[in-house]
Amino acid sequence: MRTHTALHALSGVVYRDWGAKVTGGNMEPGVARMDFELEGISQEFGRQVEEILNRELVRGYPTEIVYLAREQALTDPDLIRTKVNLIPEWVEEIRVVDIVGLDRQADGGTHVRSTLEVGRVRVAKTESKGRANKRIRIELDDAVD
Ligand SMILES: [Zn+2]
Repeated sequence: MRTHTALHALSGVVYRDWGAKVTGGNMEPGVARMDFELEGISQEFGRQVEEILNRELVRGYPTEIVYLAREQALTDPDLIRTKVNLIPEWVEEIRVVDIVGLDRQADGGTHVRSTLEVGRVRVAKTESKGRANKRIRIELDDAVD
């Protein structure tokens, strides 16, 4: 749950500050990676992401689960950015995980109730996975989930 919330927060920060959309990701308790549609990154990219992400996490953004009608979800810019349109058409009510003020996406997962509960996150590695695809690997300081 902490790792999952950390990933959503990461997605929100990288979108807000770098304008990059998520292209993929994977997670296990305590460790995760996320890929972003991003061209050149600086040497300091990983360190900057880590600093900003941790600064945001300690602000204690609440996480809320909301349900939206599909038509409504398809007009929400954050949900569009996180590809709500890929949800099968028969799904009429979309479950949304809202880290209020930081990230908002259609998601079926379980999350901690506040970003404060995530604890400190390290950016373990950044890798280039192609011209416009960069991977960020994160680790939670205390890997108990
Ligand atoms: Zn999720």
